[in-house]
Amino acid sequence: MPGILYVVSTPIGNLEDITYRAVRLLKEVDWIACEDTRNTGHLLHHYGIRTKMVSYHEHNEAERAQELFSRLRGGEKGALVSDAGTPLISDPGFRIVRGALEAGIKVEPVPGASAILAGLAVSGLPTDQFHFAGFLPPKQGARTRVLESLRGEEATLVFYETPHRILEALSDVGAVMGVREIVVARELTKLHEEVLRGPAEEIRAILAGRDSVRGEFVVLISKATEADNGGLTPEEAIFRLVQAGVPKMDAIKTVAKERGLNKRDVYRLVSGD
Ligand code: SAM
Repeated sequence: MPGILYVVSTPIGNLEDITYRAVRLLKEVDWIACEDTRNTGHLLHHYGIRTKMVSYHEHNEAERAQELFSRLRGGEKGALVSDAGTPLISDPGFRIVRGALEAGIKVEPVPGASAILAGLAVSGLPTDQFHFAGFLPPKQGARTRVLESLRGEEATLVFYETPHRILEALSDVGAVMGVREIVVARELTKLHEEVLRGPAEEIRAILAGRDSVRGEFVVLISKATEADNGGLTPEEAIFRLVQAGVPKMDAIKTVAKERGLNKRDVYRLVSGD
């Protein structure tokens, strides 16, 4: 009989955020496929789990998958975990799950923590509909284009961000989305957990005022309202003013002021730098 591949969620910070079932299965399976044996080893050690680990990552996932499938076909049971949270959610594992399904292997979820849902649950923003956009592109031009494409979405927007890019990302969010309620959830379930709420520029200023910006971030943006969708983007508003004869720099100043945006961010947006 073929085995089973369990897709197991692990904590996103606090080691207690793992289910009883996950701990039991991690003890019972023949192997645990993980991204980083040192990282997962820490979790296993905490729970006295001695199951052997097999490492997989973006670069060896396809090759490693073949080896795991033949073991699963031979009747073994295995667990797929990632460094934190739910595998496949902005984490590797997709090829393994897809391939296992194509090979007729049973794949079972063992649900648990994921930063998206943890952030959403404490955000205070509507949760009836949300759009998870993963990580925004690292380059400003591409990031602005993605934000533009999401601007009219009538669902709470959720994305992941790194400490190196959070300030730039918040500037672009402010410039593209205008004044909206933003929630930045940092270091959820960890010692320095904090949830900041307010306009993007305000949160940016709080973070920028610190000696260093550290931690892991979930950024949530309140959904577009009908007024947003009926209204103009900052670029459109500037274009209209320029068409009406207002010098471009004055138009940028006016729109930035009207919308409570940073003048330089609006300038960057329209000049495409
Ligand atoms: N698979 C994970 C999940 O289910 O949440 C996400 C993995 S992704 C590589 C890592 C990103 O998730 C971080 O850069 C951050 O944006 C977010 N993240 C993970 N843990 C977090 C935490 N404790 N607090 C806030 N954000 C977190």
